[in-house]
Amino acid sequence: MLKSETQLPPIIESDNTTSVEVISLDRKLSTAFCKICYSGGSCEQLIHPCFCKGSVGNIHLTCLERWINECGIDRCELCLFQFTSDQTRRYTVWQSLVIWTRNPVHRSLLISDSIVMVVLTIVMACLITSVVMGMTVFSTSKTDR
Ligand SMILES: [Zn+2]
Ligand SMILES: [Zn+2]
Repeated sequence: MLKSETQLPPIIESDNTTSVEVISLDRKLSTAFCKICYSGGSCEQLIHPCFCKGSVGNIHLTCLERWINECGIDRCELCLFQFTSDQTRRYTVWQSLVIWTRNPVHRSLLISDSIVMVVLTIVMACLITSVVMGMTVFSTSKTDR
């Protein structure tokens, strides 16, 4: 009984400190940061799409879209709020091909594959020509007999 009485005052003090922290968080709303990219809301406005409160509830819309696209998870990891998302095609097939070829690694792979394709096409044309010539020679020598 005596121990619980001595422990009671510190609990009240911790409640006071948490309420002070909440007030200071509200004051620092302009310095709030996105929970994905950790940057502030100066470049893009921070939104609160789920039930998370405080600094863990701030997120950029583009960061949330990128996170859903890359991870394939459409709910908050903390509060399990289900995001309603609508999948739309961002680029046409031609635009995505152009973007893909802008990557230097992809471009070098495309160039090496094109060189291999040209070499194999020339080899295949030579083989088909030799087969056709061989058939022609074989058929003419067969009719000569
Ligand atoms: Zn962000
Ligand atoms: Zn959440």
